Amino acid sequence: MPLLRTRAVILRSQRWGDADRIVTFYSHDLGKIRGAARGARRMKTRFGGVLEPFGIVDVTLFQKTPDALGQISQIDLVKNFKSIREDLGVMGAAAKMVRMVEMITADRDPNPEMYAALVYSLETLLPDRDLALTTLLFQIHVLGYTGFRPQIDRCTECGNSAPRNRPQWFSPRLGGMVCDQCGQRGVGRVLSISKGSLAFIEQARRLPMASLSRLKAIGTVRIEVEEAIEAYFQTVVGKSLPRFEQWVS
Ligand SMILES: [Zn+2]
Repeated sequence: MPLLRTRAVILRSQRWGDADRIVTFYSHDLGKIRGAARGARRMKTRFGGVLEPFGIVDVTLFQKTPDALGQISQIDLVKNFKSIREDLGVMGAAAKMVRMVEMITADRDPNPEMYAALVYSLETLLPDRDLALTTLLFQIHVLGYTGFRPQIDRCTECGNSAPRNRPQWFSPRLGGMVCDQCGQRGVGRVLSISKGSLAFIEQARRLPMASLSRLKAIGTVRIEVEEAIEAYFQTVVGKSLPRFEQWVS
């Protein structure tokens, strides 16, 4: 019976049966994995309060076969990010980030870049930051790590660069910019997007995580980029992100 030991962020911890929990982890070297914590909800348990979302843990799992649900045999807290829980706005942003990672990643598909970005983002979430912008920038990067980087330098339909003086569109289905000609011809739902918004997405995807806090987006750019990226993300994962109240239940 293989025994796995890995460092991971807890993405989700769900009640299961009378006393157990199913915990979803995002691990540095294994990607997304799940494990059952038997008896986790009893008063006296070896898991004592370390199964909360956002925590970084060292977890040991027994797994009979690679696709079977693992049994958590040991879990040691590395960092609990207590401060995240002390501010509702920060907690909402953190919940959205872990949910994005959960939704867009396949099981057992490690991605060290994604892991590093998640840890970095959780570590740097502060109440005085523009939290909605922080999660938007994280979302743009998460799409890139999984091979869904938005294409904005040329039309995703015909491959041509868009003429400067013509309007441009964003296609959530194609995952990027669509020139006016293709937009008019009909490529499914397209969203209006300005050159400023496309330039912002380009900057956001090029800058490393640590430099993203320099970026600002206000007014139309903010609205257009949020709409385009959220619609694209929904197309990629096949469903919309749940509302905040559902994440913290
Ligand atoms: Zn085109």
